Amino acid sequence: MKLRLCALYPEQMNIYADRGNIMLLRSRCEWRGIGFEYAAAGPGESFDPRAHDFLYMGGGQDRDQRIVAADLVRTKRQAMAEAVDDGAVLLAVCGGYQLLGHSYQLGDERIEGLGLADLETVREPGPRLIGNVEIEVDLDGGPRRLAGFENHGGRTHLGGDATPLGRVIKGFGNNGSDGHEGVRRRNMVGTYLHGPLLPKNSWLADRLIQLALGRREGTEPELEPLDDALEAAAHESAHRAAMRG
Ligand code: GLN
Repeated sequence: MKLRLCALYPEQMNIYADRGNIMLLRSRCEWRGIGFEYAAAGPGESFDPRAHDFLYMGGGQDRDQRIVAADLVRTKRQAMAEAVDDGAVLLAVCGGYQLLGHSYQLGDERIEGLGLADLETVREPGPRLIGNVEIEVDLDGGPRRLAGFENHGGRTHLGGDATPLGRVIKGFGNNGSDGHEGVRRRNMVGTYLHGPLLPKNSWLADRLIQLALGRREGTEPELEPLDDALEAAAHESAHRAAMRG
């Protein structure tokens, strides 16, 4: 078995070291004897939608998003859509998450997104939504908690065809008002929870590895348990920080 991951714009979309999520995925595969193949697609580059089972895009400031958005739609949209429709995992964090939607509106400026999820992001008057956050999600294994950190000026509103990733327990989530956080469609997950999202929530890393491997294998493989003492401590610390906030 081998996890074949492709990072989208790893240089441009990596605010708060979101690439740490990839390091964790690699480690959790290798600790179990599962191969890990890393590829990257940067500006101007497309990719073969069948060659990767896990697509990853991190967060970015408005400036970074402006730089990549048009290129993303032009060179990668089709491959991303085909991969997601075929069951690949797509994990997009914060700025990457916003670009999954139809658009990101900043005053008079409209950044076109991928339209892979029925959502829109707007800069509305008001402060940035910053702080520790905890949400409850169900990725088909019963309700679980994700704890993390969010920092975004954009407010994301889901359309009628979109399903939120989870329900906000603490923090702001998509827009600070409707109690929704993130988006999910098939194995595509968008969230405002930043790196280290996966190190703080190793169960999510394993669930996504399982889904990605399942695409190629036909069935989701059982993953060998690991000694998660450090990961559990990281989760507990993020959970406590969110509950204090
Ligand atoms: N630029 C976006 C915003 O401020 C996303 C920021 C981020 O990725 N942290 O809303």
